[in-house]
Amino acid sequence: MTQTVSSEELFDRARALMPGGVNSPVRAFGSVGGTPRFLVSAKGPYVTDSEGREYVDLVCSWGPALVGHAHPDVLAAVHSAVDRGLSFGASTPAEAELAALVMDRVKPVERLRMVSTGTEATMTAVRLARGFTGRNLVIKFAGCYHGHLDGLLASAGSGVATLALPGSAGVTAATAAETLVLPYNDVAAVEAAFAEHGANIAAVITEAAPANMGVVTPAEGFNAALSRITTAHGALLILDEVLTGFRTSPAGYWGLTGEKEGWAPDLYTFGKVIGGGMPVAALGGRAEVMEYLAPLGPVYQAGTLSGNPIAMAAGVATLTAATAEVYANIDARSAQLSHAVSEALSAEGVNHSVQRAGNLFSIAFGTAEHGVHDYADALAQDAFRFKPFFHSMLDSGVYLPPSVFEAWFLSGAHDDAAMDRILSALPAAAKAAAAA
Ligand code: PMP
Repeated sequence: MTQTVSSEELFDRARALMPGGVNSPVRAFGSVGGTPRFLVSAKGPYVTDSEGREYVDLVCSWGPALVGHAHPDVLAAVHSAVDRGLSFGASTPAEAELAALVMDRVKPVERLRMVSTGTEATMTAVRLARGFTGRNLVIKFAGCYHGHLDGLLASAGSGVATLALPGSAGVTAATAAETLVLPYNDVAAVEAAFAEHGANIAAVITEAAPANMGVVTPAEGFNAALSRITTAHGALLILDEVLTGFRTSPAGYWGLTGEKEGWAPDLYTFGKVIGGGMPVAALGGRAEVMEYLAPLGPVYQAGTLSGNPIAMAAGVATLTAATAEVYANIDARSAQLSHAVSEALSAEGVNHSVQRAGNLFSIAFGTAEHGVHDYADALAQDAFRFKPFFHSMLDSGVYLPPSVFEAWFLSGAHDDAAMDRILSALPAAAKAAAAA
């Protein structure tokens, strides 16, 4: 950009043209207030706004930028693909290349279908589970986000299985009634739901580790119990790894748990990292289930831009660039940063807990005594302390996710210099949180 334009000016313009000025709600800074920054470029661990201000980025495009922004290998692969044309609406060699990389990492995936968004992946997985089992009901957990498909926006209900209320206007009661919403980490509630409705439950869908109510650690054995219960009742387990996939380990959160414990879900959903910043998502799993999809089976699903060659190139280059060193860096920086935030908050007497699942973490306020184990805990926290904390960090040049209910994302490009900037911003932010 030759001329700088303020975010205020850009936001005013955007609001006159698009609902809320955004194309995805959380970008509007609704829960933290203030003017969202309009970003114009990104490199490594940094993003730059329309006024030329640089921030250390802890959003990483909400996950996809695992190897850092504008990684040279990813850019080279994309440039090379662009030179061959943008989209053909036909099969391309790169689709199988990306599928093979996924299967190499996540062994139980025997077949994969590429789609363009995480929402499409979970929507298709739910349809496939219903088609495969011939059953209607789906269990989800309160506080888990699986995209904006009608049936999974429902999040009401706690304690025992309840027929959910729609989580959004425009979702019919009939659709919502086909989702059972249960409290997270509560195996007894799952068992009770299956005891009552088992013959009609098509699937349980769960985030492999929840990161959309802030991060919540799955209780030891929780996902394994879901696998055991669904198998016993002839239902499918859909493990949503859209956010955790290829991030918490090369085999996602399942790689830290199921692979070692000896269980696997029937279906996985992937997104974010799999496309390295391009619109790619996927669902995959057992061949027997996956082959219920058209053109082999009766469950229809399709996409004009599915398996887009540029997006595939970005995905292949990103997974290839995600070396052991990248994971080691993210693991180490995550531990370093989460401890530093905790120390800074403790120094100011701010009651909080660090919520962890592998290398994912978030901070919850007012939760030191018990931590956050489910959605009720997440909602009960002192969320008001996040707003001044967030703005203090932003003023110091650190771009955090603009909501207390989001994980902080690191990348292979977060180096000592980037970390030093974050660490030096923490004391003032902790003071701001304490004063709230
Ligand atoms: N599942 C999970 C666990 C997610 O975190 C998200 C997005 N944050 C989705 C599904 C939906 O993905 P998308 O935004 O690409 O539709």
